[in-house]
Amino acid sequence: METLVKYTYEELENYIISSGEQKFRAKQLYSWIYSKSARSFDDMSDIKKDFREKLKINAQILDTKIKAKQISKDGTIKYLIEYHDGNCAETVLMRFDNRTNLSACVSSQIGCHMGCDFCATAKCGFVRNLEPYEIISQILTIQQDTGLKITNVVFMGQGEPLNNFDNVCQAIERINKDLNIGIRRITISTCGIAPKIKQICNSKLIPTLAISLHCADSKTRKEIMPVEKKYNLEELKDALKYYCEKTGKRVTFEYILIGGLTDTPDMAALLCDYIKDLKCNINLIPYNPIGIDKYKKPAKKDIMLFKYLLEEQGKKVTIRLERGADIDAACGQLAGKI
Ligand code: SAH
Repeated sequence: METLVKYTYEELENYIISSGEQKFRAKQLYSWIYSKSARSFDDMSDIKKDFREKLKINAQILDTKIKAKQISKDGTIKYLIEYHDGNCAETVLMRFDNRTNLSACVSSQIGCHMGCDFCATAKCGFVRNLEPYEIISQILTIQQDTGLKITNVVFMGQGEPLNNFDNVCQAIERINKDLNIGIRRITISTCGIAPKIKQICNSKLIPTLAISLHCADSKTRKEIMPVEKKYNLEELKDALKYYCEKTGKRVTFEYILIGGLTDTPDMAALLCDYIKDLKCNINLIPYNPIGIDKYKKPAKKDIMLFKYLLEEQGKKVTIRLERGADIDAACGQLAGKI
């Protein structure tokens, strides 16, 4: 059984020719799979019947199943996708009433080995990397299921995208080409693998970068994010300066406000100092509980004060709208459970 989403356009053409069909059928098939998000060969009305029947016997569009699906009050949809080997990863569709953007939050790995103490994904350990087509399959699943066209992709699901570097770069190329999503609308989020941040500047397509900083005090950061022991704040900053200079792009810092730990005025001052000479935006994420709660949600007044202290220094700050918390689809809550 051939899985068609594995193929690039050129490979699809070869497959069509080798099955004795004319080359232009590849274009039709490609358009049904990626632009029209067909769920089955029967949907492909302009493809002649006997070829469709042949495809039904020999091929499938995806090799995944939707194992579970949850819809939040706010319209967020979380899918648990089962891969060919029985492993599952989550993908989330986020929509915002006042925007036309439809964002897919995709996973790059099954599990994660970064071990951030506040993150539900980390508690599952690491299982394996996802292949480029397995990342594309997540977006196609959303499109097929909802009939909507994804406009933005963020690598903020399970896994550390820069630890699956080649596959993620290939997936980005295909998201751009096959799904026709502009590179400015593709963002990867990393906990700060400094050498890979530099390396991505040499890619054909350079995505927008979001950095899970979460704390600008090295000692505290080490306690909550083991990556700080390997690539510390200084090394990270060096890589970010390189990225900004080389690409002319701005980075976004993601910063989790954990009550009494990272949300204090002292921490705000350290953050201001850390980012002062970087072109950046700041996205504050109030901590989402993950069940084992040694960490606390921040108080509303502390969130507002923290935001004010950054803005006072001329920084552009947004507070991340919490999406899908009622279905455990919010940041850090993706643990692959049903
Ligand atoms: N590994 C990448 C991609 C994951 S993105 C990275 O670290 O950036 C998921 C985002 O949610 C990260 O910024 C992560 O730190 C954040 N997050 C994890 N647990 C969280 C929690 N309990 N509450 C709020 N945000 C959390």
